[in-house]
Amino acid sequence: MHRESGGPLDPRLTDFDWEGRRAAPVEKLIDLHVHYRGDPKTLDILFPLLDRYRVECIHLIFDRGAGKDDLRRAGTYGKIGERIIPFFRLDLRTGDSDQVRRARDLGFWGLKFIHPRYPYDDRVYDPILSLAQDYGMPCLFHTGVLGRSEHKIEAGCGMSLMRADMLDTLANRYPDLLIQGAHLGNPDVAAAFRASQCSPNLIWDASGGIRHLLQGDPRLLYACMYGLPDAWTCFAWSTDTTTAVFPPEYADGWPNQIEYQICYWQRIFAQLPVKPGTADLDRFFYGNARAWIDRIVAKRAG
Ligand SMILES: [Zn+2]
Repeated sequence: MHRESGGPLDPRLTDFDWEGRRAAPVEKLIDLHVHYRGDPKTLDILFPLLDRYRVECIHLIFDRGAGKDDLRRAGTYGKIGERIIPFFRLDLRTGDSDQVRRARDLGFWGLKFIHPRYPYDDRVYDPILSLAQDYGMPCLFHTGVLGRSEHKIEAGCGMSLMRADMLDTLANRYPDLLIQGAHLGNPDVAAAFRASQCSPNLIWDASGGIRHLLQGDPRLLYACMYGLPDAWTCFAWSTDTTTAVFPPEYADGWPNQIEYQICYWQRIFAQLPVKPGTADLDRFFYGNARAWIDRIVAKRAG
């Protein structure tokens, strides 16, 4: 984690204006965590913003029960497999692998894990994970704390079932499975980063509330990354949004969530004891996600 030279800081660490509610410009982005709850009106709002911020591609997580029509409708906003990588939300009350087959047949590319009844690394989920690995379907796991009000809880909601370190176990058990952990393990950032060092098939999206912990103490992020030569390759900027627009009561002067999420991370990185260099910032905002999606595409083709 070094700046390449002693030269000037990357403008993305200096040209943002937190009080003015403006991020320093970012050339291009990929968002690895976006939700679609079945209302195309949300896509009408989302996609112009994606265009404006040059968001090249998104992982789009469909609500459970989504079918071919939902996928087709979303596909009118951006090509499936290029602009949109669609994820099918699993029912984790059981380890039934039929739903993996169904998801693939419907045209979904990836699988979303949340609300498990058992810990993610429980053997009950082996049929799902081994079939996903066989099919080359990437798996996106919510990790860490989870609000109790969000949708209705089918099974588990406690973070002890969805810990970051469990993805280390799964990445080891399924070395050909592409595993994405959401929210940097919130709050267990240390486990998230350490796990990735041993597992080239594990990446983290930096969406969710973890940013507040790291803004509270940017040195925590520094410590979690310290001594890991590839730390800047294993996490990626993401929003966890639906429309990318804040409800008015939460906007707090921000034009939209994309601007806010860019600026929030710029502010955290600007406070690190050793500042990231241009290549590191390129990786975080774009390059890591690009490389990840390239692997997803290659696996699906292969
Ligand atoms: Zn989410």
